[in-house]
Amino acid sequence: MTLRKSLILLEKQFDMKNFIFKFILIIFLVAGAMNVFAVSTKKVSPKKEIIYQVPVLVYHSFGSAPLKKESWMRMHYRVTAEAFQSQMKYLSDDGYHPISFSTYVNSLKDNTKLPDKAVVLTFDDGWVSQYNYAVPILEKYKFTATFFVITDYVNNKYKAYMSWDNLKDLVKNNFEIASHTESHPILTKLDFKKLANELNGSKKILEDKLSVKVMTLAYPDYAQNQTVRDAAKLAGYVGSRAGWSNIQNSNANIYQLKSQEVVNNPNPFSSKRLPDLP
Ligand SMILES: [Zn+2]
Repeated sequence: MTLRKSLILLEKQFDMKNFIFKFILIIFLVAGAMNVFAVSTKKVSPKKEIIYQVPVLVYHSFGSAPLKKESWMRMHYRVTAEAFQSQMKYLSDDGYHPISFSTYVNSLKDNTKLPDKAVVLTFDDGWVSQYNYAVPILEKYKFTATFFVITDYVNNKYKAYMSWDNLKDLVKNNFEIASHTESHPILTKLDFKKLANELNGSKKILEDKLSVKVMTLAYPDYAQNQTVRDAAKLAGYVGSRAGWSNIQNSNANIYQLKSQEVVNNPNPFSSKRLPDLP
């Protein structure tokens, strides 16, 4: 073999080695790229939607009898002790198990099991009539409940609202105290700073005065939008109560859980006024 031929052969072998080297390199690169691609497009399965049908009932003030001077609307929503007693008896006889609003929120979030026929009893605004008329009946049936308090109204001069001592007594008896803001504004009309103050301030004063963790919020007049829901989350609430007279809720709507108001009717749950109630 001449030197020239040997050099050509060597060059060809080198070319072949070079080719194989490049080929393997390309295979590695492609495989790597495919792997990265596979990781980056790996489907994150959407959070499973959990749906519960638990009635969240809303009460306002109570009285021994409806006040005649009030508007029809106010009279209708002022539940008498007799009507409330009859309603709680209905729930008890029918095997309902009241749970706190935060228990409901957390069970929706974590998909934990609730008792059969769970129901959430909520009381808005912090009226002292709730303490005087409704609480003894709740205690008689060993029913828990959640009280959404307007913190600026606690201990106020009109004496229509509960005192800090009343609220401490509720805490002692295992009722849940939650926020209904500081001053009951329409939250959708506030700028973000005022909105944050209402949500943070009410939570903080309840926690400081009552030594409890305030978990949930009820929007005044049920008014809320995405900004309000975001602010509620940011303030540290785990969930909040909205309106809509429906009992079906999902873990996708933790900050706008539906509820329905109860009127002064001794047996609203078996009438056609609340057809959704199971
Ligand atoms: Zn209210």
